[in-house]
Amino acid sequence: MELESILLPGIPDRRPMVIAGPCSAETEEQVLNTAHELAGKGIRIYRAGIWKPRTKPGGFEGVGAPGLPWLQRVKEETGMYTAVEVATRNHVLESVRYGIDILWVGARTSANPFAVQDVADALKETDFQGIVLVKNPVNPDLELWIGALERINNAGIRKIGAIHRGFSSYDKTLYRNLPQWHIPIELKRRIPNLPLISDPSHIGGKRELIAPLSQQAMDLNYDGLIIESHCSPDAAWSDKDQQITPDVLSYILNLLVIRDTKQTTESLTELRQQIDLLDDELLTVLAKRMRISREIGQYKKEHNMPVLQTRRYDEILDKRLSQAKELEMGVIFTKEVLEAIHEESIRQQIEILNQA
Ligand code: PEP
Ligand code: MN
Repeated sequence: MELESILLPGIPDRRPMVIAGPCSAETEEQVLNTAHELAGKGIRIYRAGIWKPRTKPGGFEGVGAPGLPWLQRVKEETGMYTAVEVATRNHVLESVRYGIDILWVGARTSANPFAVQDVADALKETDFQGIVLVKNPVNPDLELWIGALERINNAGIRKIGAIHRGFSSYDKTLYRNLPQWHIPIELKRRIPNLPLISDPSHIGGKRELIAPLSQQAMDLNYDGLIIESHCSPDAAWSDKDQQITPDVLSYILNLLVIRDTKQTTESLTELRQQIDLLDDELLTVLAKRMRISREIGQYKKEHNMPVLQTRRYDEILDKRLSQAKELEMGVIFTKEVLEAIHEESIRQQIEILNQA
């Protein structure tokens, strides 16, 4: 992917890049009050949803285009950059007309290639020079996320970033949207120069999770944070449980520990070498285990025995889980590893059974 830096003129090149503002623009007064308070705390990029995708009809669906001039006033009065969510061609054209600097593609839109393509095509019609941020799709599908990023990139947009806002789940959990950290981490591995921004507001869904989630994002070397902030959160028309005042936001940001990412000490290099060696050993041992397992498969085939012998598997699991406890390894983790290995063994044995 051909990418350019998303640094904005006048904003220092320092982690985290912070985008803050209300979930939704509600009234001109609320937009401007929140903006002035945030600007007073040193926030330089202002977000506000103008068109709101709501799960069910009948709720507040955003003020729409009449809110765009309010954001223009924010820019004039505070000097902040502005960011809004776009989901249709019309959203893009209207936002560009009002000088919005950052457009973001929401999680429901990222999940729909037709809609993302519509946004990408609309961008091509404009001379938009700003940044486009693409939220992860609601479902945990990395390829879909990358596909959305590619569609925007193919429209000639080079200043692109990804926003990690977590993934829907049916079950009630601590989080509003499960972080599934391995997905954004894999995204970063696949596209190393793509800036990654965390959205602790939509991951956590509640105020008290914003600080720990933001710290976790910083510890994972994320580039930025997008955090919902409202001048009176309890009165917010959408997402009120997760919005915080500019005061609280500033308090949280000041407490963040930003670890220096550039230095790699001698001792870390040594430890990493040890990890590399152990990974080598792990793979060699695993491959050997699979070979033996295939031999067993061959034997079972010749003696007309079923592949799955539950009692034997239960024994292995019991024995290894108590060993894991002694070795101070997580039992759930150990169980997952053993299950994955067992599943692959079974798959290979079945393959042997089906060979002519
Ligand atoms: C938002 O940022 O207000 C929003 C609607 O987010 P998401 O697309 O992550 O649900
Ligand atoms: Mn929101």
